[in-house]
Amino acid sequence: PAIDLDGLLASLNPAQHQAVTHDPKIPLQILAGPGSGKTKVLTSRIAHLILVHKVAPSSICAVTFTNKAANEMRERLNKLIGKSRTTALQMGTFHSICVRYLRMHSSVVGLEDNFTICDSDESKKLVMALMKPYKDYIIENDIAITEGSILSKISAAKAKGQSAAEFLKDVNEMERANRNNPRMPNQRLEGYKSFERILAEIYIAYEEVLKNNNALDFDDLLVYGVKLFGTHEQAVLWCRHVLVDEFQDTNTMQYQLMRCLGVRRCVSIVGDPDQSIYGWRSAEVTNLAKMRKDFPNTRQIYLERNYRSSGAILRTSLAIVEEDKKRIPKSLHTSHPLGTTPFLGVTANEKDESEMIAFEIKRSVAYMGGVLKWGDFAILLRFNALSRPIESALQKNGIPCRILGGHKFFERMEVKDIIAYLQLLDNPGFNPAFVRAIKAPSRGVGDKSLEEISLGAERSKNSQLKLVEKIVDNKTPDTKPPVKKKVTPFVKVFKALRRFNEEETLPSEIIRKLVNLIGYEDHLKKTQQDWESRWENVQELITFASEIEAEMIARETNVPEAQAGPDAPAKQSKLRHFLQCSTLSSAGDNESEEQNKEKVTISTCHAAKGLEWPVVIVPAVDSEIFPFYRTDDIEEERRLLYVACTRAQSLLYLLYSSKRQVAGKAKDKGLSPFVSVPLEKNPGLFSQTVPQFRANDRAVICQVLSRELPDEAEIQRRVKELEESREFVQPTPQTPSGQMATVALDGTRSSVLNVPVGAGG
Ligand code: ATP
Ligand code: MG
Repeated sequence: PAIDLDGLLASLNPAQHQAVTHDPKIPLQILAGPGSGKTKVLTSRIAHLILVHKVAPSSICAVTFTNKAANEMRERLNKLIGKSRTTALQMGTFHSICVRYLRMHSSVVGLEDNFTICDSDESKKLVMALMKPYKDYIIENDIAITEGSILSKISAAKAKGQSAAEFLKDVNEMERANRNNPRMPNQRLEGYKSFERILAEIYIAYEEVLKNNNALDFDDLLVYGVKLFGTHEQAVLWCRHVLVDEFQDTNTMQYQLMRCLGVRRCVSIVGDPDQSIYGWRSAEVTNLAKMRKDFPNTRQIYLERNYRSSGAILRTSLAIVEEDKKRIPKSLHTSHPLGTTPFLGVTANEKDESEMIAFEIKRSVAYMGGVLKWGDFAILLRFNALSRPIESALQKNGIPCRILGGHKFFERMEVKDIIAYLQLLDNPGFNPAFVRAIKAPSRGVGDKSLEEISLGAERSKNSQLKLVEKIVDNKTPDTKPPVKKKVTPFVKVFKALRRFNEEETLPSEIIRKLVNLIGYEDHLKKTQQDWESRWENVQELITFASEIEAEMIARETNVPEAQAGPDAPAKQSKLRHFLQCSTLSSAGDNESEEQNKEKVTISTCHAAKGLEWPVVIVPAVDSEIFPFYRTDDIEEERRLLYVACTRAQSLLYLLYSSKRQVAGKAKDKGLSPFVSVPLEKNPGLFSQTVPQFRANDRAVICQVLSRELPDEAEIQRRVKELEESREFVQPTPQTPSGQMATVALDGTRSSVLNVPVGAGG
């Protein structure tokens, strides 16, 4: 296809143009607010490097924050520079890029190339086992410690690059300093262990277990990545250009990775300090300043025009974030019309709130016949658990929805069971997979036998799988016959699996054969009430595997010239690649974008970062939810609400509820201070009645249409057509109860009125 570089450049404003064409050799920071085209600029810059500077695509490393963002960037680039060039790019999250190169150069950093990636669930199980010896002590001494708190501390340490040994050293020093502190009498008790000491000991043991299992957790991918790229020149030779999106949310290890990859090369990053929302996961917004120190001649470019949101949405969002007094003010304006004022609504409880959401979505779709589709709506939540009543209200109203973010699909029991077999096939030393697989289906191997196997394996320095294989082959003298009988069929399954793998059977086919071999469908029927939907998930996993295979085959037949050198990636087994994709992919990735376009999106605010929708609904803007009552960083919570609001293009709803169930009890709630404070200063920020399409329809419709229709005249023609059609009649505006609670905006916010929708509109 003809590549229209001139068209691409002409579509940019002057600041964007400057950023895209900026000298590749001079480090670049693009700092700008939401919707200002940062991601668009980054994508265009990649195209420009390739088309104008003739940079080989395989020497460009483009880093996104999520897999979904990488897919979107890939889609945009497919159109700009063609599929074969896009495929050659080294694009993905920091984690996925690390995995790719760690596999190629595993021995350099002391890893075996078939290491397994432990997901958070598996890490949790490992820590739980390691906590066992401390259980009594923890209870006796009433120490507040859980596997969750341990894991998040370990993760924070790893994000800073602090090893277990260093962690222990710090604890030693701290205890030495506290030894004579009269306020800490415990310190001097015989056998006393502080939380920190227990933590350090478990951290050390955890690292050892991972090593013995030939496994890495998510944080390790970055730690080993830094080790590899920082010390092994050979591993970074391919890289000439590094581009990073959402830089404000990088942690220390990710920054180091960027530095290792980027040093003496060309670096461009884009970010927005106002959207830094991952402090709780050790992100360091100071990395922006650090970069200017490490790359002294860094050029900064600011973008000030927002292309995403209507004037009213931008005004309200800015009013929210400007209450952060420490924030550095910056300019952001839109050339979109003012449009519809964001709506602020209050309901009696979360059930009414959910019904109102469903009702409003239905009403908008009915009224905006043919313009707004389900896929144009997003419901953004402070945390996942808020979705349950909303999901059921949508379902009741026949509104299809999808849940974005998290690892939902791959967290399901049946999916994890099957994956465990494949993990074990790829890496026989990965004992957690052995423990899972041997129980699915149940083979009568109870916890006691498992413990015996585990001890026996440790003693004989075998993996657990190896040990049971030896038992079956009569190579271990001292095992009891019942154990042998129970594990024999399991060992047979593995013999067969290995043969399939050696014959290079595709993963989808291996799964198909595996579920037959172990009678998995029958097992589900016998043990699970909802076996049908679970069996569906197994089928879905097979579909997922086939998609990955198709992609891999396309990739193999499309090896770019630049990768054929000595630096070319080793061919990776299809099974291993499949496993990698399944541990790294998030929910939603397993559904095609086409399917998703027809569904309402439910997402956390965090996972919605970088995305946009015509209509955004933010429920639960309550006082204890924004800010979240357990937070220790109020400003980060405020920015989170700002991120949520700035996802909206044409319509924005904020909802709160006067009562909400918390842990089964109804509690009184009020409006979040993030909204009430700016609202008091300017009551015009929000509207008290739900959007009146009749008054504002033209602006909204034009904006929604302009995403698909490039031509202004075409849009006007379509709007006229719509206005004349019968579809364009506003349905009687009524909530399910016939009334809509609205809030009086005379500055008092005290009176909650029961006003029929549309009254006074
Ligand atoms: P965020 O901070 O939320 O990630 P962003 O700065 O990355 O936002 P983009 O997602 O790149 O912003 O762009 C926002 C929207 O504006 C997109 O739909 C994009 O296509 C559009 N856009 C950006 N620049 C232009 C332009 N020059 N002309 C027309 N549309 C543009
Ligand atoms: Mg972006």
